[in-house]
Amino acid sequence: TDNPLLSPDRQHEDVDAALRPKTLHEFVGQEAARDNLRVFIESAKMRREAMDHVLFFGPPGLGKTTLAQIIARELGVNFRATSGPVIAKAGDLAALLTNLESGDVLFIDEIHRLNPVVEEVLYPAMEDRALDLIIGEGPSARSVRIDLPPFTLIGATTRQGLLQTPLRDRFGIPVRLQFYSVPELERVVARGASLMGVGIDHGGANEIARRARGTPRVAGRLLRRVRDFAQVDGVETITQGVADSALTRLEVDKIGLDLQDRRYLMMIADIYKGGPVGVETLAAGLSEPRDTIEEVIEPYLIQLGLVARTARGRCLNDRGWKHLGLTPPTGSIP
Ligand code: ADP
Repeated sequence: TDNPLLSPDRQHEDVDAALRPKTLHEFVGQEAARDNLRVFIESAKMRREAMDHVLFFGPPGLGKTTLAQIIARELGVNFRATSGPVIAKAGDLAALLTNLESGDVLFIDEIHRLNPVVEEVLYPAMEDRALDLIIGEGPSARSVRIDLPPFTLIGATTRQGLLQTPLRDRFGIPVRLQFYSVPELERVVARGASLMGVGIDHGGANEIARRARGTPRVAGRLLRRVRDFAQVDGVETITQGVADSALTRLEVDKIGLDLQDRRYLMMIADIYKGGPVGVETLAAGLSEPRDTIEEVIEPYLIQLGLVARTARGRCLNDRGWKHLGLTPPTGSIP
């Protein structure tokens, strides 16, 4: 989205660390994932083995990094973090892996962006806990195998489909994270407010939760901005009215959409009569990379039921027409 306030991506000013839950118990929502992880953590501890490799997938800002840290903490092991684009050479990955202690968690964010050469090194590391390194060049080159300590790789990616099958298949525990419900986000907001020492009532938490795009990172950011307004206005408790007026001034609409989301919806409505229209066509029309459309704009609009992704392209649903203040044409998807 073009409103940085609503972008699910991590930003410079985000003090994510301060609001990060530290235990599975404190972590709000994602119940199914949490229940399963609790079992895998406990059983690994009982067997005194490294936990199986975990792959988190889902839109940015839903808690993948947070959960990876929690897993390491609950296992009682070190947490080492890196990201796909940062590991340029096979040697960089080898250095990381050989520095792990027994049972450690290695977290690789944006694992779909690993260089294919590096990915090749990762396969035997994940499967056989071994590194196959080529030493030397030309006819004198030889391969040596280095044993690694048992470790848990935790990968994070926005969409499972972005990963090569051989890599995907090596994760024993795939976990899909879902957008958060409004009541869950209310708890995230209330918890954040209490950590920040800000007064907020239920109406205030609800207003921020409804406009946070199902995403805890966005909820935290909206809360900080609303707090700024409240502070300057000398307001002690964030109520629904305080939150609404601050968010309206920040151009976040009632359901958390910004100008760019509305441009996307308008383009399907206006130019393509509700669709279907291909994502490439929309990307060209909006001058946005296809990835931004598919990973940032669409997931939340689809979740809200404003848009549908069909085999023939994107279609505006009844709700999408209505959100734009337009009458749905007969035969549009309810
Ligand atoms: P991701 O790695 O998926 O992009 P993060 O783990 O970095 O997301 O989380 C982004 C922010 O949202 C962090 O500030 C974190 O504290 C907060 N957050 C994420 N999930 C939760 C949750 N379940 N409960 C409370 N806060 C959360």
